[in-house]
Amino acid sequence: METFTRHYIDGRRQAAGTGRIAVGDPATGEVIGEVPAGTAADADAAVAAAARAFPAWSASPRAERAALLERLTGLLAAARARLAETIVGEVGSPASFAAAVQVGLPLATFAGQPGLLEEIAWRREVGHSAVVREAAGVVVAITPWNYPLHQIAAKVAPALAAGCTVVLKPSEVAPLNAFLLAEAVHEAGFPPGVFNLVCGTGAEVGERLVAHPDVDVVSFTGSTAAGRRIGALAAATVKRVHLELGGKSPTVVLDDADLEAAVADGMVKAFVNSGQTCTALSRLIVPRARLAEAEEIAAAAVANHPLVDPAAETAGVRPTVLADKLGHIGFTFALGPLVSAAQRERVTGHIRAGVEEGARLVAGGPERPGGFDRGHYVRPTVFSGTTPGMAIVQEEIFGPVLCLQAHDGDDDAAALANGTRYGLCAAVWSADTGRAAAFAGRLRAGQVDVNGARFNPFAPFGGYKQSGHGRELGVWGLEAFLQTKSLQLP
Ligand code: NAD
Repeated sequence: METFTRHYIDGRRQAAGTGRIAVGDPATGEVIGEVPAGTAADADAAVAAAARAFPAWSASPRAERAALLERLTGLLAAARARLAETIVGEVGSPASFAAAVQVGLPLATFAGQPGLLEEIAWRREVGHSAVVREAAGVVVAITPWNYPLHQIAAKVAPALAAGCTVVLKPSEVAPLNAFLLAEAVHEAGFPPGVFNLVCGTGAEVGERLVAHPDVDVVSFTGSTAAGRRIGALAAATVKRVHLELGGKSPTVVLDDADLEAAVADGMVKAFVNSGQTCTALSRLIVPRARLAEAEEIAAAAVANHPLVDPAAETAGVRPTVLADKLGHIGFTFALGPLVSAAQRERVTGHIRAGVEEGARLVAGGPERPGGFDRGHYVRPTVFSGTTPGMAIVQEEIFGPVLCLQAHDGDDDAAALANGTRYGLCAAVWSADTGRAAAFAGRLRAGQVDVNGARFNPFAPFGGYKQSGHGRELGVWGLEAFLQTKSLQLP
């Protein structure tokens, strides 16, 4: 049982009220931890500490900030195993995935900041002016539970590097990893008030932070519904707001593509982290003439996504034969449970609604999977026979549910791919990489994977349309926490 009873404010573990939030293990449903349920007063105290720390921190030499971030990276690397175990426990991600991605990615983000500081043009001459970049101010970071430490790192690491001070409000569903981060920040020796952690609900702590007049930037990752509310609240004090929201991202398979490779890769990217991934490629748009073949490949490839006990899982991602009869090499990519009973209810509700709407199940379904009589497990599910207007095609499900769609050529494929309110991510497959890359130019999405290419944590990340605005990661993620000042010189 991991119990944290105090927030981290002004360089100290500060007593909170008596309210507590229980943290559950998705694989068993048992309570494994507890954190304070913060209040508006806790939020105010954290903002006050961050505001007091801002003048000195923002004026500190960049080399000093870089050295502290390097020390912090070292401490996080040393705590790697504990961080991974904690995230397995509170999110339910399989152990090998938690170590490689849930902890590996944030480590890379923290480690990368000193180098990124070198890439900023801190001062430029424009005629008789000097244009200087400065820290943007007090930053509020509000994060979700699905890649909890990665989403924290994508905000906190560049904000600290830029010279901003930070109040972090992590997800109340998976907050334990944030308390481990706070311990490492403390041990690294950051000045008091530079980093503050308050835990609590969005309604109580989150809204207070967003509305606070002494906050300059709100960086939010989460649902589109909460993002809309946060944008409206922040407008009253004209804050800068970055929103990283939901998605309904497509894989587009052009008519000359290797269908087996595209379906296998599309399924891995649809089901990764049990589909609880904002960039999940949850739609697979294939040539109509090859729909039946795609269904057959998908039905077979579900076997490459076994459900596992996340803590006991050791297999990792390994090549396997997709299906004997197809003879294609795919990948085993294990799935843990969903994060909570509520999430399981939501996702199985979407699957039932899909059946009621008239879509056809190619694999999976809403029933509890065999062999898992406890925990929040959902069977990896594939629908075909969909139409563009169906809710399962339009709504972010945030579970292991893939929808096949049929296209009648490139124009139709582009229209289907762009035919939701989201625009976070996409993928395109063609035998001709140049053709695929050109098609990517027609997609209204912040990132497009061409022919199965991998995620790059130093490339900009963010959405078009209602997937949000602003960019995280790499030098773009650092610039998000800078202001621009023109000095007119005599
Ligand atoms: P959520 O929106 O319910 O909560 C996210 C965070 O916002 C939590 O810390 C929560 O307490 C807080 N919050 C909620 N309402 C708030 C309010 N009114 N004011 C202030 N704070 C508030 O999302 P979730 O369920 O934790 O995460 C899942 C969602 O996040 C999915 O929609 C997913 O697509 C999205 N997501 C997006 C990205 C991205 O980078 N685009 C990444 C991961 C997750």
